Amino acid sequence: MDYQAVLDDIAATIQSDLGTAGSVADYIPALSRVDPFQFGMALRTRDGLEAWAGDALTPFSIQSISKVFSLTIAMRLAGERLWERIGREPSGNPFNSLMQLEREQGIPRNPFINAGAIVVADYLVTLDDDPESAILNYISGLCDEPLEIDEEVAASEAATGFRNIALANFIKSYGKLDNDVSTVLDVYFRQCAVSMNCVQLARAVNYLCRDGIHPLRDDRIISSRQARRINALMLTCGTYDTAGEFAFRIGVPCKSGVGGGIVAVIPDSLSMCVWSPALDAGHNSLPGQKALEMFTSRTGLSVF
Ligand code: GLN
Repeated sequence: MDYQAVLDDIAATIQSDLGTAGSVADYIPALSRVDPFQFGMALRTRDGLEAWAGDALTPFSIQSISKVFSLTIAMRLAGERLWERIGREPSGNPFNSLMQLEREQGIPRNPFINAGAIVVADYLVTLDDDPESAILNYISGLCDEPLEIDEEVAASEAATGFRNIALANFIKSYGKLDNDVSTVLDVYFRQCAVSMNCVQLARAVNYLCRDGIHPLRDDRIISSRQARRINALMLTCGTYDTAGEFAFRIGVPCKSGVGGGIVAVIPDSLSMCVWSPALDAGHNSLPGQKALEMFTSRTGLSVF
């Protein structure tokens, strides 16, 4: 299949109506200044062929896409123990909701809602001497490029992350966070503030379409069973309370971030990343969803 032609065609269609719908995330002040008239898309096949279109080389804030990487590291370090304090069910609630947490006594529904990712960060603080560098080096190793944390975004979120602060304190009140709340949140805020472009992200999640094998080398990142499980969690929980709609319309595991990025994995076939900052009410990139839907309809690729 001529993936480059497919991406070029989708990019031309999407670019022509950028800015007509959706809005940039503004609850993190540094993100509200991003130009919404940007769109990029990239893919990498299981065998290493890469294609990209539009603003695929422009860095953006990966935000919740980072949860895929922190979960991968935590699964490697903690194994099955991880699931003692985190569930694996879709939440049916927005990513930053507090409601379920009280009903379910401080056990987040899944590792991709904020509460769950905060518990994952807590595991990393316990299991690694320098979790922040561990996450950054890990992602950087996957795409084989140096990466940076956007300090302005990290500071902006730390200064206004009232809900995340509430979530972490709430979990702590149930005795389900082992470390200091501010240490754990620092790791979480900083992992969300990593800057990457579409080409780097499509490459970095490529191990999820290669049964857990490194994107560029032959070494194993995680077992094939763990890779399948991460894909299952992305499909059922990766886009929060719109995961059903994503499965219905796009039909592949996806993980979104409020920076406007969405990564998608088609097991045994390819990994992709789309990015465009304007979000819908579910906090997922609107042009990004449209582009993914066009891609899976045109190529016929799906997990179903
Ligand atoms: N850093 C963001 C937050 O915690 C991540 C949310 C997201 O990308 N869905 O609110």
